[in-house]
Order: sequence, then C-alpha cells, then structure tokens
Amino acid sequence: MSNRVVEGRMVTAERLAELVEGEPPMEADSIDDADFDCPECGGNVLSVGYMPSVTEFVTGYKCQDCEWADDDR
Ligand SMILES: [Zn+2]
Repeated sequence: MSNRVVEGRMVTAERLAELVEGEPPMEADSIDDADFDCPECGGNVLSVGYMPSVTEFVTGYKCQDCEWADDDR
C-alpha cells in the first residue's frame, strides 16, 4: 500500500491519477516521490504512472500541498 496525503486527504494511486487526469484511470502504479519541488509553492511533488486508456501510459505529477498538477504528455 502506498497511500499518501495530498491537500490534507489520504489518496490511493488511483485517486491521485484521477486528481491529475480529471477522470479515473484504467490502471495506476504505486505512488512515488518526484525528484523536483512544486513550481507553485515549493511543496513536495508526488508522481504516479497510470493508463488513461489501453494504448496510453502517462506519468502524472501532483503537489501534496496545493492544486498544482501536471503530466508528461
Ligand atoms: Zn504546490
């Protein structure tokens, strides 16, 4: 299990990917720490690999402290 706190709430990898993507992924890997800080607030950034569709694999990034999110598309 790799649940982490994001914006004060405990999230699973699937929920974290949903926060990045805007809709639930088909599959999500476990949550990791990204190797950079949030460009908005300097907070810790988490990364999660997920599949928004069967043909696509994306790495999403989400700040633990603010609303900032991005992906590697
Ligand atoms: Zn932030």
